[in-house]
Amino acid sequence: MGVLIVGAGPTGMVAGLVLAANGVACRVLERRAQPGTSSRALGLQARSMELLAGLGLTGEIERIAYRLPGASMMRGDTELSRFTWVPPQSPYPYTYVLPQSGLEAVLRDRLRAAGVEIEAGAQVQTVTQGETAVEVALADGREMTAEWLIGADGSRSRVREELGIELAGRETGETYYLADIVLDERPPFQDSAMWLGPAGPFMLMRLPGADELWRIFADMTDMESLAERPGPGVAELQALLGERGPGRLRITEVQWTSIYRTRVGLATGYRRDRAFLAGDAAHVFPPFGGQGMNLGIQDAVGLAWRLAGVEHGAPVDLLAAYETERRPVAAATIRDVESRRRLYALRNPVARTLRDALLRYGSRVPGAARQASLQNSQLDVGYRRGRRRLLTRGPQSGDRAPDAALAEGTVHDRLGVDHFTLLVFAPASSAGKRPGARHSVAGPVEVRIDDETDPTGAVRDAYGLRRGGYVLIRPDGYVAYRGRDGAAARRLATCAEAGQTV
Ligand SMILES: Cc1cc2nc3c(=O)[nH]c(=O)nc-3n(C[C@H](O)[C@H](O)[C@H](O)COP(=O)(O)OP(=O)(O)OC[C@H]3O[C@@H](n4cnc5c(N)ncnc54)[C@H](O)[C@@H]3O)c2cc1C
Repeated sequence: MGVLIVGAGPTGMVAGLVLAANGVACRVLERRAQPGTSSRALGLQARSMELLAGLGLTGEIERIAYRLPGASMMRGDTELSRFTWVPPQSPYPYTYVLPQSGLEAVLRDRLRAAGVEIEAGAQVQTVTQGETAVEVALADGREMTAEWLIGADGSRSRVREELGIELAGRETGETYYLADIVLDERPPFQDSAMWLGPAGPFMLMRLPGADELWRIFADMTDMESLAERPGPGVAELQALLGERGPGRLRITEVQWTSIYRTRVGLATGYRRDRAFLAGDAAHVFPPFGGQGMNLGIQDAVGLAWRLAGVEHGAPVDLLAAYETERRPVAAATIRDVESRRRLYALRNPVARTLRDALLRYGSRVPGAARQASLQNSQLDVGYRRGRRRLLTRGPQSGDRAPDAALAEGTVHDRLGVDHFTLLVFAPASSAGKRPGARHSVAGPVEVRIDDETDPTGAVRDAYGLRRGGYVLIRPDGYVAYRGRDGAAARRLATCAEAGQTV
C-alpha cells in the first residue's frame, strides 16, 4: 500500500524521490492540473544541496542555477557594505539561485524517471485514519488508501485541517510586492542587494538565465491604498526602483508579480497517527534569507528515510524522531526570520541608523560573518541530544557528518538517502567493503578509512578518530554513532534500536 503524498511542491516531490530511491511504493497527488510556472522561492542553501546530492540531482541543478557568493547593502548607487558568504565546510558553499519552477521541473523529471507519476487534478478533500491504513477522498469522488500519508500541501494545507492540527501563528502586518522584471542594463552591484530606507526594505536579486531577469522585493506596508489594487504595474515598479533602489535603471518588461502579506506559523504537531505534515504545511514565515523551501526539502528527507526504514521492517518508533528533530529546527528558523523581519521593518530614524551601523560592523567581523553564513546555509542544523561532550574532537551523535577528501572523491560522495554509511577507521578488525547502492536501510555501506583511502589524514582529522573507531551516518547525513563498538554501530544501522538513538 505504501505512502500517499499530498502535494507536488518541492517538499512532496523530494519525499517521493527518497521513497522511490528506497524502493518504497508511493503516489503523489496534486490538486493542480498543470505545473506552476511562478518563480517564488529563489535559493537552494548548502545543506539542501548536500541532501539533493544524495539523490544525484546537483549536476542538473548547477546547470540551471548560478552560485551567489554574497549580497550588498546599498544606498542609491553606492555600496555601503558587502556580506560575503564565508565558504563553509561544504561541497556546496553558496546559495544556488534558481526559480522554484525550475527546481520543480528537475524534480518532476527525476520522479518520472524513477517510475513515480504525479497524479494531476487530484485534490484531497478528506483524510480518515484507521488502525493499519489511512484513506483519502478526492474532490472528484475517488478514494485511495495507503499505510502512511505525507501532507506536503502547502501553507493552507487541507491535510493539516483534516488532521485537526493547528497552525499556531499570526499575521505580522507587512505587505510586500514581489515582481520578476527585465532591466535595460546591469545594476551597480553583484547579483543581490538590499536598500534599507525609511519605507522598509527594497531588494533586487538576479535570476539565472540570459534574459537579465531580476526579482524585486519591496516593502509596501506604508501604502494604505494597496488593498484595493490587483498588483503592481510597470509604472509603479519603475517609480519604486527610482525612489528606493538604484535610480537610473529602466524596467523593459514585467514577467510576474505577486502581493505577499507576511505571517508566521508553526504546526502544533507534525504527526497524527499515520499522517505527517512537512514543508509549508507545517511552517510558514516570510522569505528573508531564503529558508522556507529549504526547510521543506530537509523535512522531506528527514521523514521519508524513516518511513522507508519502517516499510523495510524497522520498528515504528523510528518515526517519532521526525517531529522531535524537525519541529525545533522550524521554530528556531522562525525566531531568526522574525528578528530579521523586525530589524528590516524599523521606521524610527535613530533605530535605523543604529541598525545600519550594526549590520555594517557584522559584515566586517569574520566570526559574525561566518556564524551568519553557517546559519543561512542551514549547515548548523543538528539533532544532538544532551550536551556536547567536552574534550571530544569531531562530530557527535546528531551532528551533520562533515565532508573531507578521500583518495578518491569525498566522504559525502559515499552518503546516500537509501543507505546508512559506516566509516570504519583503521586500525579496526573488520574487513572493509567498497560502497554500493542498497535498496533498504537494512545494512550500512561500509567505507574503510586508512592510510590508503585517507592519505592526507583529512577524514581522520574531520572525525577526530586517529586511533580507530566507527562512525555511522544516517541516510539524511547526520551522525548516528561515533565510537569503538563496530557491532553496536551495525546493529543501529538495522534500526533495531531506532527509538533510542538513531
Ligand atoms: C509569492 C511567494 C513568494 C515566495 N518567495 C519565496 C522566496 O523568495 N524564498 C523562499 O525561500 N521561499 C519563498 N516562498 C515560499 C516557498 O515558495 C515555499 O516555502 C515552498 O513552496 C514550500 O514548498 P512545499 O512543497 O512545502 O509547498 P508548496 O510549494 O506550496 O506545494 C504544495 C503543493 O500542494 C498542492 N496542494 C494544495 N492543496 C492540495 C490538496 N488538497 N490536494 C492535492 N494537492 C494540493 C499545491 O497545488 C502545491 O502544488 C514564496 C512563496 C510565495 C507564495
